[in-house]
Amino acid sequence: MVVVLKAGTGKSQVEALADKLTKMGVEVNPVYGKNLTILGLIGDTTRVDPTRVEADPCVEKIIHVAEPFKKANRAFHPDDTVVDVSGVKIGGEALTIIAGPCSVESEEQICQVAGDVKRMGANLLRGGAFKPRTSPYAFQGLKYDGLKLLIEAREKTGMPIVSEIMSPADIDIFEEEVDLIQVGARNMQNFDLLRQLGRCKKPVLLKRGLSATIEEWLMSAEYIMCEGNENVILCERGIRTFETYTRNTIDLSAIPAIKKMSCLPVLVDPSHATGKWWMVEPLAKAAIAVGADGLMIEVHNDPVHALCDGQQSIKPEVFANLMRDVRTIAQAVGRKIA
Ligand code: PEP
Ligand code: MN
Repeated sequence: MVVVLKAGTGKSQVEALADKLTKMGVEVNPVYGKNLTILGLIGDTTRVDPTRVEADPCVEKIIHVAEPFKKANRAFHPDDTVVDVSGVKIGGEALTIIAGPCSVESEEQICQVAGDVKRMGANLLRGGAFKPRTSPYAFQGLKYDGLKLLIEAREKTGMPIVSEIMSPADIDIFEEEVDLIQVGARNMQNFDLLRQLGRCKKPVLLKRGLSATIEEWLMSAEYIMCEGNENVILCERGIRTFETYTRNTIDLSAIPAIKKMSCLPVLVDPSHATGKWWMVEPLAKAAIAVGADGLMIEVHNDPVHALCDGQQSIKPEVFANLMRDVRTIAQAVGRKIA
């Protein structure tokens, strides 16, 4: 349930009403927006008698929220959420470009790619240190050594770093060292991990599960947000369908859907979505055209010898072209690249 207050309602009146509603047994989330103030009610809202609330002179109207996600719901936060990742704002007018290799492989590799993508306009550096691989015999990532190399690349370039967490046991080190903590598709419904990330102070990049509906994805965001961490960024990375030509099927309709349903920023990862390096550029452009807040792109200096996902990684020179074209599309849809 959302209680929309009349324009000009003072802070003390808002607080008094919030107090009254809390005493009725629900959690109250006041949101002071650009144009209006609202109170989002969470919990057993059958305890609240809407006629009594509407009788309050500060109340404009009550909206009943049918969806099970509340904190991630656009009705609770009419304004777009802008998440600050160590100074990089995600979800505002400027698009965010995350680029880097699938996995951190060596000092030379990560520092070279980091320097290249930074020069070409990327805002954040990605690199997997803990890799969720289908086969236990495949390269599993450099783990803690990989994180150290990423930190070194951040020191050299000044770019904040994004890396995937796989185990709740690593929350402390990620909270300390990583600027944006990625939850991969395979862990989208690891509810213990999500709850613990909800108690952590770093923003979370939540990728869509392999076969997750949009509502399931938003419910996973809700797991993080209901624990107090509202700095969640979504990332569409393709879903499983009957098609086998591409690694996954990119669901671009999810972008306008998320924008309508939720206040959260949403990025697109055309690398994992297609699994083919030559499809990354056209789909990156399409993603920006449909309203994504940015991109996550796998870039490798030597894709043929990459230890993971070389087939979908683009070389720095292809990334430079992509950035040039994305800039043009961004302008056409009223966005910009910082
Ligand atoms: C990744 O970004 O490296 C990754 C493993 O992606 P996903 O979880 O979307 O498969
Ligand atoms: Mn990858």
